[in-house]
This record gives sequence, structure tokens and C-alpha cells, in this order.
Amino acid sequence: MPFTALGLGPNLTKAVREAGYTEPTPIQSKAIPLILSGRDVIGIAQTGTGKTAAFALPILHLLSTHGSRMGRKGIRALIVAPTRELALQTEEFVRNYGRHVHLRCATIYGGVGENPQIAALRSGMEIVVATPGRLLDFMRRGLVNFSQIEVAVLDEADRMLDMGFLPDIRQIVRALPGERQTLLFSATLSKEIEALTAEFLKSPHLVQIGRRSNPAETVAQFVYEVPKSRKVSLLLHLLRDQALDSVLVFSRTKHGADKIARKLAQSGIATATLHSNRSQGQRLQALRAFKSGAVRVLVATDIAARGIDVEGISHVVNFDFPPQPEDYVHRIGRTGRAHAVGDAISFVTPDDHGTLRALERFIARGIPRKHAGDFDYSERPQPLAAFSEPPRPAKRGQGGAPRISSGQAPRRVRGHAGANRRPSSAPSGHLLPLSREKALENAQRPRSNHRSSRRSSRRRPW
Ligand code: AMP
Repeated sequence: MPFTALGLGPNLTKAVREAGYTEPTPIQSKAIPLILSGRDVIGIAQTGTGKTAAFALPILHLLSTHGSRMGRKGIRALIVAPTRELALQTEEFVRNYGRHVHLRCATIYGGVGENPQIAALRSGMEIVVATPGRLLDFMRRGLVNFSQIEVAVLDEADRMLDMGFLPDIRQIVRALPGERQTLLFSATLSKEIEALTAEFLKSPHLVQIGRRSNPAETVAQFVYEVPKSRKVSLLLHLLRDQALDSVLVFSRTKHGADKIARKLAQSGIATATLHSNRSQGQRLQALRAFKSGAVRVLVATDIAARGIDVEGISHVVNFDFPPQPEDYVHRIGRTGRAHAVGDAISFVTPDDHGTLRALERFIARGIPRKHAGDFDYSERPQPLAAFSEPPRPAKRGQGGAPRISSGQAPRRVRGHAGANRRPSSAPSGHLLPLSREKALENAQRPRSNHRSSRRSSRRRPW
């Protein structure tokens, strides 16, 4: 089905074409007509399935084809997202999809100066993307006026609940006009999410893509069983393969992330880190360097990496196995986004076996075990093999064969034309030194008990 059949206006289908999208993803085909018809919608879709466009496009259509209530100025659509980087990313998509319609969009999030955000609100923005904390603060100080709200979106609602935002969300939603359209998106449909929808949505229509809580179907997943003391060496060993060309490594702790990054840098691999102990500027810089390809490896903690959309991540490495299956699903969703197909590699120590089994039950499939044939898994102390990166082959459409080192940052321009290209206007990756985020990261310690190919031109079977 082409985009033109979904009921979107020509200004939007034009923007979508310019973004390189040739056809809607399943969540878009199902959700867009429903949202256009004014229904409340619950969208259950795995990360990277195009859910932002699924709500942003119909909202832009609705707002651009009729005036505000009583012709007054004010916020007409509110999108609430759990993290600053997701909020900025959403704003970027909204701006890009809305480039041919006359609507203005602002982003409200904490950790940065508030004056530009207040000024933006005063200048009259039709669409606001916000994280709950700063939005609530502005509400309490009378800086936002919700009287003109027509549509509210709760994005990554499951994550907002995990982050303890439920009381904030309640206060925000209760302050909205009763007569509104409400859309809720979540990667998983838990009992808590069902309760939330019953509270905030009216006769919602459920749009569900794929099975519940299932990782992205297109990501090839592997497990390496390895003693804890050999994990860094195994990572270095795997990184000899140049196919691992844009690698997101997940560490359970901030300290662990720094340690891994240090070891990689010592071995000549350009690495950046992303966690809540880094300053805002450092985090932005790390994400930019990774996105541009100046660094090959980004070592991150779960919370800091939440929601980031980096085009062309070739591999996700679970250096520390995630204690919660939901986190595994989110982590591996960082690769295999849009039309790319990526690999997810997990290191599993003897301590992780119970967690791995629980995950396999959760995703209802076994994850193939891999063994690096020429790697020494024995635990005896051994020096790290000196590792020096060979020159990297030039990417298609690029001039040179840049050499990556830890000191200098050669430019490797990532990005390829076409469907998987993300809009590139506003800065993204303003990362969140929220105290809540830090607390969550600190809580990501190993828990003994829990509740619970590479990038290629292969097309993602939406
Ligand atoms: P999201 O799930 O909204 O984070 O989107 C994930 C990625 O899919 C983004 O890089 C989008 O640019 C891309 N995308 C969204 N819709 C489409 C589409 N219809 N065709 C191709 N790529 C898309």
C-alpha cells in the first residue's frame, strides 16, 4: 500500500518521499488511518518499526487541515517521551515530516537552561514534545497552557512506567482537556500498560505489530559463553572482524563502561562512552562521533542509550547480559532498525545462565551459541593481545579508507541514501543527566534473581 492511500495530504506524502520512504511500515499502515479517523489508539510495536511516523504524520495532517479550537493559538498536540534524546529525536522527525506544512514544534526537557524553552512556548508552538519532569515543572509554574490540546501522545509508555514516571504522567494527562484524542505507544503490552490505557484512553483501538515482547525479527542473535575475566579479550578478538564496523556495546554499569572503553582505546580502537556520569556536552559529543563514524564503538549503559536512533549500527554487543528480558529487547532493537539488518551478540558468563534461560522463555526461542574457534577461553591471566586496527576499507560512495585510532578522530561519514536515513536537522542526543537516570543506572547491578550478519542491503521484512 502506498503512503498516498493512507489519507495523508500531499504535503506530507511529499515529505515522506523526500525522507526516502517508499511504503508505510505495518504500524504506519494500520495506525495512520485510525488516527486520522479520530480514534484513540494503542500502538504496540517493537523499536525501530517506524512508530514515530505512525503518530507524527496523522497528527501533522489533522492539525494542518483544520484550525485550532475557536481559532485560538496554543499547544494543539503534546507528545510525552521518557528521555531527552527520544524527545529530541521525535522533534527532529516531526520537523522533517512537517517541512511542507506550517506548524511549529518545540521540545521541553530538563538538564539544560529553561529560558529558550519558555521563549519557544511563548512564541506559540502548535506541537510540543516533552519529557515528564520539566513539563510538570512548567505546568506548576503556569508556563504551559493545555486548553487547546487536541491530541496527546504517550510514547514509550512502558519505559515511562519503568522509570517511575507514572505519577507525573497522571498529573499531566489529568491537566489535559477531556475532549481530546489520546495515542499510546509501547514496545510491550503488559498488565500495567493495559491499566494505563484504561485510565487515559477512550474505546481505544489496539494496533499490534508482531508478537508481544518479541525482539526485532530481523536481528540475528548469538550468544558467546565466556568467563567473566575473558570478556574484554573476546570483545577485542571479535573487533578484529571489520564487519563489526559500528558497534554499540552495553555495559551494566557506568564504571564498567569506562573500563571497557579504556581497554578498547588502549588497543587502538576509537571508542566513546555514554552514561549518566558524563556531562551533557560529553554525551552529545560521544553520540555525534558515533553517528558520524568517527568512533567505531560506543560503550553505553541501558538508560543512556534508551531511544537513540543511530543509523547503521552494525552490531549490538551485550558485554554484560541484561538482567531484564525487556532490556534485551530494547538493546537489540538498536540494530536492525528500519531497513538494516544487524547482529546482536551477547556475552554470557556462568552466572548469566539462569537469566539467559529466562530470556529464551520470554522471547519463545533459543538463541544460537557461537564459539570463536581461534580464541583462548581459558581463565589463566594473560596479557591483552596488542591490537592495532588495520586501515578500514572505504565505504561505498566514500572517498578514502580512513584509519581509526583512539587519539584522533578521522571522519568517516556514515549514512546512505534511502529509506533508513534519518532526518538531519536539529541536534540529537542531548543526553540526560537526570538524577532519576543515575539512580536507574545504579540500580542496574547484577541481580541474582529476576522477575521476569552485519549491516547489509537486505530488506527488512516489515
Ligand atoms: P522509529 O521506530 O520511529 O524510531 O523509526 C525507526 C527508523 O525507521 C527511523 O530511522 C525512520 O527514519 C525509519 N522509518 C520510519 N518509517 C519508515 C518507512 N516507511 N520506510 C523506511 N524507513 C522508515
